[in-house]
Amino acid sequence: MPGNATNFIHGADDIVRVPDVVPPINISTTYRYNSDPSQLVKVADRGGYEILNNPWYSRLSHPNSEQIENAVAKVTGGYVVAYSSGLSAFFALMTYYNPKVLSIGNGYHGVHGIANIFTRNNGLKQISLDDDFEQLNEGDIVHLETPVNPEGINFNIKEFADKAHARGAILSVDATFAPPPLQDPFKFGADIILHSATKFFGGHSDLLAGFLITKSKEIRDALLNDRLLLGTNIANLESSLLIRGIRTLDLRVRKQSETASKIVHYLENNKSKFPGLTKIYHGSLQTDAYIKEQLPIGHSPVFSIEVESEVFAKYLPSKLKYFYHATSLGGVESLIEWRALSDPSANPALLRVSIGVEDYEDLLEDFIEAFTAAKLEVASLK
Ligand SMILES: *Cc1c(COP(=O)(O)O)cnc(C)c1O
Repeated sequence: MPGNATNFIHGADDIVRVPDVVPPINISTTYRYNSDPSQLVKVADRGGYEILNNPWYSRLSHPNSEQIENAVAKVTGGYVVAYSSGLSAFFALMTYYNPKVLSIGNGYHGVHGIANIFTRNNGLKQISLDDDFEQLNEGDIVHLETPVNPEGINFNIKEFADKAHARGAILSVDATFAPPPLQDPFKFGADIILHSATKFFGGHSDLLAGFLITKSKEIRDALLNDRLLLGTNIANLESSLLIRGIRTLDLRVRKQSETASKIVHYLENNKSKFPGLTKIYHGSLQTDAYIKEQLPIGHSPVFSIEVESEVFAKYLPSKLKYFYHATSLGGVESLIEWRALSDPSANPALLRVSIGVEDYEDLLEDFIEAFTAAKLEVASLK
């Protein structure tokens, strides 16, 4: 079987309908039905999405969404359904399973926002990952984000899979922070995987997209049916940008992961060069035995740092040359974000860092200079 890097480039070759090396962007919303009347039954019974190369209406699927789904399916070994964003993928997950109880930990704030909508509308009960799982029953969901936002630290997928399955619940894993080739949640018992493809899969901060990945063809078909009705399919241009993005995913993520761990270790071992730095959060600093199995290649390219004060956190980004001060993560450009700006529940002294593909030495030097400059400026404010 071809490896990840090969599949990211060639995984959809068999369904591209033209000889173009770069598949065209198919902007058509509608596709001519088969001109042979004897073939029309198949299309009309809505089994249509099973017939690749035979699109019908782009809210159901279109050639570009099928290309991205096929390539990512080959890499992940599951059935992939693409969405217009990571949050619309989570919304689809909640709509399909419609749990009575959701066990959910810290993590991406928008996901909690969706859970709160379900609590408001349907009385969904939410419990934490530490609560008693006796409260879960068949059809309920344990939703684990690992590595978790914003810290980039890990939870043991197998442990939560076992605990969920013992109650007849399913385990969904938001693996956005550790895309392939870093982590395969299916290997440790996850039932369904979520990715915000806006982040590493896209990789260039220029598209919104999300995936649900399941081992079950039946669930995939049901999700496609729901997606058709909810109107949350990924758009044509976004699919095309994503097809381009994933061609380099393997290369990018390996480098970003390596650079992130190197920077984290430098920070951790040279704290005196970073005045104002109080704490670093990253999976590479965790020592639990399961980590090496769960992340055999490397850690998330995202980590967080805590600094001495809110005002230091506010000034530090302005001193960096190569880290844009912006939200989001996973792109080729390094980003830093004072989390308080986008997540009202965040620790006001916390900054999240997403490492891009720039040279390690430049990023490190930038950090060293920025801490010293921020320290001086913050002192002058007093
Ligand atoms: C960004 C993100 C999401 C939401 O994805 P969008 O594509 O922005 O809707 C969900 N989970 C995690 C961990 C994320 O980082």
